[in-house]
Amino acid sequence: MKVFATRILPSEGRQLIRKSGIELIEYSKKVELSQEDLIRYCSDADALVSSGPNKLNEAFFRQCPHLKGVSLLSVGYDNVDTIAATNYGVPVGNTPGVLDNATADTAFLLMLAVARNAFYMHRSILEGKWEFSEPTANLGIELNGKKLGVFGLGRIGMNFARKCKSAFNMDIYYHNRTRNIKAEEELGAKSVPFDQLLSHCDIISVHASLTPETTSVFNKETFKKMKPSSIFINTARGKIHNEKDLIDALKEKKIFGAGLDVMSEEPCSPDNPLLRMPNVCVLPHIGSATIETRNAMSVLAAQNVLAALNNQKMPHVINPEVYKSLPPQKN
Ligand code: NAP
Repeated sequence: MKVFATRILPSEGRQLIRKSGIELIEYSKKVELSQEDLIRYCSDADALVSSGPNKLNEAFFRQCPHLKGVSLLSVGYDNVDTIAATNYGVPVGNTPGVLDNATADTAFLLMLAVARNAFYMHRSILEGKWEFSEPTANLGIELNGKKLGVFGLGRIGMNFARKCKSAFNMDIYYHNRTRNIKAEEELGAKSVPFDQLLSHCDIISVHASLTPETTSVFNKETFKKMKPSSIFINTARGKIHNEKDLIDALKEKKIFGAGLDVMSEEPCSPDNPLLRMPNVCVLPHIGSATIETRNAMSVLAAQNVLAALNNQKMPHVINPEVYKSLPPQKN
């Protein structure tokens, strides 16, 4: 059996696969694989571990229906055409739960950094601008007792809300398509319409998955509805906000600042104006990037692969309906 991985895997997951006597080919070049090359590498593999931006679309599954499974090294699966995967009989797995803490920590880091303009202050010192100290200069915003609005209160949103509640005694508001009763009971979280979330909250943190419904949901119109003193945090996916509209909202002081772990285009160009704005903190999509979390993700990814290769159901499958329609040789 052979597994192709689009990246070098964290050690725990790699060991788990190799210990099972499976050949693991890890693509080690620091350039993105073209779709053509990805399909070529998959042509003689039995399963794929995919990390990074490769689009696993209809064309991919049409040309790789022989795969016994695709295992993502992520919880987000907006780059996968799950309907095509199911139609071609390929189970796809992800890594939910194990990255909640690290990703919520990243949102927390960004929230604090934006509230105190931390990245900009750091850049100013590097530029020799630590000048005469004035009581009215370099002022940030206090977070204690503020209203947190979570757009997408799922696993990561809940972890972040817990942190904000216990660190800053924040009031928690959220907007989901369905109510999160656990959050309401545990944190006193209040479910509110989207417009109310925007107009009412001091911090808006995005934790929803990227779907056609959430694409560009933060745009010119919605930023206009937020408080001028509010902070916008996005650690989910960059396409959930419209980047140009965000830049305009920041320039026009429609909002106080923004903290972003995700950008519309990744990697983002060093010329992106957001990187030079005083009220913006940007990180290079490191939400889950801790040693502990990346290892835990690789273990889940390996477990998904091993299950698929053993003709068992993946423990974390995103298209479970595939098991109803798998052709006999894959069952
Ligand atoms: P999750 O548990 O599925 O939570 C997603 C939440 O979004 C759910 O509560 C869902 O509630 C809500 N939602 C979905 N569509 C919505 C809509 N149209 N309007 C309002 N709410 C909506 O997922 P998770 O594990 O917390 O992960 C969330 C996302 O974080 C992932 O999809 C991924 O893109 C991103 N992420 C980023 C990093 C990073 O490195 N920066 C790391 C991990 C994850 P309803 O279904 O009730 O609407």
